[in-house]
Amino acid sequence: MKHTYPSLATLGREIKTQTNSSAALVEECLKQVLEKNGPMNGFITVCSDEALARAEEIDAAIAQGKDPGSLAGIPIAIKDNISTKGILTTCGSKILENYVPIFDATVVQKLTAAGAIVLGKTNMDEFAMGSSTENSFFGPTRNPLDPEKIPGGSSGGSAAVVGAGMAPVALGSDTGGSIRQPAACCGVVGIKPTYGRVSRYGLVAYGSSLDQIGPITTSVEDAALLLNVICGFDEMDATSSPEPVPDFTATLNKGVEGLRIGLPREYFAQGLDETVRARVMEAVDNLKAAGAQVVDISLPHTEYAVATYYIIATAEASSNLARYDGVKFGFRAKDVSTLKEMYRETRSQGFGAEVKRRIMLGTYVLSAGYYDAYYKKAQQVRTLITEDFTKAFSQCDCIVGPAMPTMPFNIGEKANDPLAMYLSDIYTISLNLAGLPGISVPFAREGDSMPVGVQVFGRAFDEATVLAVAQAMESSANP
Ligand code: GLN
Repeated sequence: MKHTYPSLATLGREIKTQTNSSAALVEECLKQVLEKNGPMNGFITVCSDEALARAEEIDAAIAQGKDPGSLAGIPIAIKDNISTKGILTTCGSKILENYVPIFDATVVQKLTAAGAIVLGKTNMDEFAMGSSTENSFFGPTRNPLDPEKIPGGSSGGSAAVVGAGMAPVALGSDTGGSIRQPAACCGVVGIKPTYGRVSRYGLVAYGSSLDQIGPITTSVEDAALLLNVICGFDEMDATSSPEPVPDFTATLNKGVEGLRIGLPREYFAQGLDETVRARVMEAVDNLKAAGAQVVDISLPHTEYAVATYYIIATAEASSNLARYDGVKFGFRAKDVSTLKEMYRETRSQGFGAEVKRRIMLGTYVLSAGYYDAYYKKAQQVRTLITEDFTKAFSQCDCIVGPAMPTMPFNIGEKANDPLAMYLSDIYTISLNLAGLPGISVPFAREGDSMPVGVQVFGRAFDEATVLAVAQAMESSANP
């Protein structure tokens, strides 16, 4: 049974006026977790006692007339690659199975300062490498709408626990689609902010030039509220942007009248499932009816995006993951006699198959003799992909397309076909390569068993327009 919560604004108001309590809300979440998490496997860690204790503290502070912040008493699920002080942070990997950070990621600090409560840590593809949450050392997560299906990945745990009502909201991370794809699969909203908008301090690095943290929620409004809290400059992240952060809720309802919406022809080409195409076009028709102007655009380098991404992301991963050597972090292989053997055995036993494949690919494309042919070339194509968007945004104010080429597939269906898996990233990865913001909003027609994720993307730092278009689309959707 689907469980839903009131909006964050309503929950916040109820908790502050004491018509509801944070403790009751946390208890409701824990009840849902108890009932659903076993089969669904969305949470790796649930912080039951700590979350309840914190909720009681917040309720007591409110009773004393204090203001504990804009998210006072709201429980939130956090993807397990975001560092939480004193709470297990596994990245879905055996190598970090027992890793407990000694610091909070900046986003966690900000959320906690705003009164939010960490409810637990969610399942994910190991080190965020995957599109289905099947690559987790802790086993796959199941889709809350259909347990046979994948929840998308790599933030599948976060999307599943929000979709199932185990938590009102969650955080995910997106390197090539890992917030938007699971949101699309689980019928929830997921936004990847502009690169640099949200601090990456404390996010365990996968592809550092691509990674961003963002909200996974049941509504566009909740996503805007969470973004208000987590965005902003952070001196602990060298790539953090000083760009001022507007109040994202202020312009949510500005409508789409007169807005130019670009439809990239390459996103509606061969390989797109008919149901997905139909729903995306219906969403576009609704935007048209609401006063938007639709323009055909081209993103001509789209066909190179998958290859480019899988060179750059794996190159960065091979370097970022060098730190897991059995010395400094987590798992260390036993029964070894030399240092070299310790490194080799630790990494052989500690990493899963997909992570090893990526490390090998990344090491190869960076190696002497191949660097120019692969890594350097990929960086050049990355520039071309970015320029595609710059040109497109001279003709339109935002772009709409599918989040995924197909409906969610069955668990196990593509597990032995990494290339097929990589191809499902075709509509999401270009955005990471260009650093732009994008959201996936669920859209369905009466009688559909699953909604389709419709993606909206915008200019750098123009989350406000992306959210307003998403809001207009959401209010015309029919889940
Ligand atoms: N599916 C992509 C990958 O496996 C994207 C993952 C992500 O965004 N973290 O790399």
